[in-house]
Amino acid sequence: MSLATKPTMVEWIENNETKTYGNFINGKWVESNSGQTIDIYHSAKKSQLLASFQNSTEEDVNKAVEAAHEAFKSWSNVPGPDRGAILFRFADLLEQNVDELAFMLSAEQGKVLGESKGEVLRAAKEARFSAGEAFRIEGNTLPAERQNVFNATVRKPIGVIAAIAPWNFPVVTPVRKIAPALAYGCTVVFKPASVTPWTSARLMELLAEAGVPNGVVNLVVGSGSKVGDPLINHLLVRGISFTGSTGIGIGINEQAAKRLVKTQLELGGKNPAVVLDYHNAEDVAKQIVNAAFACSGQRCTSISRVIVLKEKKEELTQALYNEIKAVKVGPAWEAGATMGPVINQGHLDSVLEYVEIGKQEGANLLFGGEVLTEGEYSEGSYMVPALFDNVTSDMRIAKEEIFGPVLCVIEVENKEEAFRVANNVEYGLAASIFTTDYSSAHTFADQIETGMVHVNHGTASAAHMPFGGAKNSGFGAFSIGSSNTEFFTEVKAVYFQY
Ligand code: NAP
Repeated sequence: MSLATKPTMVEWIENNETKTYGNFINGKWVESNSGQTIDIYHSAKKSQLLASFQNSTEEDVNKAVEAAHEAFKSWSNVPGPDRGAILFRFADLLEQNVDELAFMLSAEQGKVLGESKGEVLRAAKEARFSAGEAFRIEGNTLPAERQNVFNATVRKPIGVIAAIAPWNFPVVTPVRKIAPALAYGCTVVFKPASVTPWTSARLMELLAEAGVPNGVVNLVVGSGSKVGDPLINHLLVRGISFTGSTGIGIGINEQAAKRLVKTQLELGGKNPAVVLDYHNAEDVAKQIVNAAFACSGQRCTSISRVIVLKEKKEELTQALYNEIKAVKVGPAWEAGATMGPVINQGHLDSVLEYVEIGKQEGANLLFGGEVLTEGEYSEGSYMVPALFDNVTSDMRIAKEEIFGPVLCVIEVENKEEAFRVANNVEYGLAASIFTTDYSSAHTFADQIETGMVHVNHGTASAAHMPFGGAKNSGFGAFSIGSSNTEFFTEVKAVYFQY
């Protein structure tokens, strides 16, 4: 259907012809030898089939990696500016197709349409940054120890990259891996989460339309065990860029270490907002609630703990309560909806279990936490966002990643305790502090054990700033921004006598 008529999301999805996608290998859509498919259903209309995909096997992975390996020989020799030019075109195509991609993203993942559009546009920004990086893959020149010798270092692409993504950001996460890989001259085999492969298929079409040669990017759909595992262990794969849970990430790192294969791991989080003081409680609450419940709390950088000084606790908790009450839960396309369903029933059950655990641990459920089943809610996995107070830092809901719309308020006596509690988790992805005191903000930025720190705002990142975590939240080079050079390239030292 042409977007010239500007259909709504509901119309576009209804008019979409349901099809079965092949894997994208060496520039062609090919069926798996398994003869089995995976069906993808609408996240907010459970019975509506969106598309079917290959339930792939190791044999499919082998074909894709071999294609990427073959393509690497020529792609790595394409001049950087030419690779960049293709990626600039790809960024333009993402923007030109923003409506369609956002409809697909919201349908398969559930997030509200505004967030989906924002994700696609953000992916375009990141692709454009990577395109620019292809023009400046820098080495060094160094003085020689002998006369008439020229010493330099150059950066070379490492080879075939296994890119593995989770389901929460099905457009920006693949682009965050594929665009820099291509910019630096690597080739890619991409495995999306098996619950959200639809937008990935569209990304393959747009990459090809932008001019990416056959075999440079390949898509294989299937489960972590049948596709992910053989992919990370394939002898021709030289780098693994993985985003997902910490447990799976650690397992991947163990496998990669045996072959000395580089990893870039973006893992889980339990991100705090420390609140010391402020001019306006409502402003702070708005920032926190937005960062806690965007994408139904299913962001690695979601704020899930509010650590607040005793003297501010009552006022801030009231402001948080008011903000959370204003969250409008609904399907992606509904006017005014600010929070969609969670990804599926299995994940909803896991989030609801944490709500029960919180109650049993003695935390006070101030608001929400119930499942929504009436009317259109019966068509998706919806819940009311939950706010707990009287949470203590040793409770499971204060330490474990829930990955859903649950926010915990922890009261502390002083700044030192606040910083200690903020660090008292295995994770170290992102953190915020709200304060009017310059010195406290600096001390926090210095002492917090996270990869990213935000002062007086939520945990949203920028399209050119390095993104990653400390402790159990990440390993290897940060993604986004120039730090990708460290992962996708390796140094070669050149001595040139003349
Ligand atoms: P997950 O279960 O770890 O899965 C992530 C990806 O890994 C999926 O494609 C999955 O395939 C695949 N996989 C599973 N087992 C594998 C194996 N043995 N070998 C290779 N691949 C395997 O994570 P998720 O539930 O999709 O996503 C939520 C998690 O991701 C949260 O912990 C969240 O914090 C984290 N996350 C982190 C960041 C970050 O930047 N730090 C960003 C987003 C999300 P299947 O889909 O087929 O299972």
